[in-house]
Amino acid sequence: MAQQILVIEDEPTLARLLSYNLSQEGYETKVIDHGSEGLQAALQHAYDLIILDIMLPGLNGFEILSKLRQKGNKTPVIILTARNAEEEVVQGLKYGADDYITKPFGVAELLARVSAVLRRTLSDEQLQDKQAAGEKVITAGDLFIYPEKYEVLLGGESIPLRPKEFEVLLYLVQRPSVVVTRDDLMNIVWGFDYIGGQRTVDVHVSSLRKKLEMNQQSVQIESIRGVGYKLVTAPVKKS
Ligand code: CA
Repeated sequence: MAQQILVIEDEPTLARLLSYNLSQEGYETKVIDHGSEGLQAALQHAYDLIILDIMLPGLNGFEILSKLRQKGNKTPVIILTARNAEEEVVQGLKYGADDYITKPFGVAELLARVSAVLRRTLSDEQLQDKQAAGEKVITAGDLFIYPEKYEVLLGGESIPLRPKEFEVLLYLVQRPSVVVTRDDLMNIVWGFDYIGGQRTVDVHVSSLRKKLEMNQQSVQIESIRGVGYKLVTAPVKKS
């Protein structure tokens, strides 16, 4: 059965982004845009995870979190905090949040955090089932990516990648031989309201490409001039 996630977020664009991407990943989501209604929903139904905004109409995120924990509800909670608001993080963790994501965030980071929190809070029985099913791995040629561990092996050798490089690679590998635009990479990895330029994407791809090519030539990132990038698993002839 799909894991169920409650999203309490009053900003429609962000709520849609969360709901869409979580559903794409196979989670069942319910979105509520109001604080006290969100608390009610969280208490009425046993969700696997709650994604909780802080500034909400009705009750704010801290009030919801503290009421949940007071009532003995242990559902894991990821709070969404504003940029440069360290006190929100500190307060959230004090009230019993399991993790936090700072806005703006990319989809890759969101999914990684969700999966990590869900994994940490799995029951022993669920954990055994999961281990029996084998850990998630994505492959392309002799490239092995372990998304839950942020680990990449190429030809059996571990490749040290920075988080954004990892996320770019993960996105490309999941779309083999498809041209991915810079805009897509920007939105997915850096977040839909990231203000940096496309140059950021190019810099990360170029560094990622160097790291891949240091090991072997079996996986390459092709540049499609003026459009974006494509991952190819056969060697590319340089013209
Ligand atoms: Ca809000």
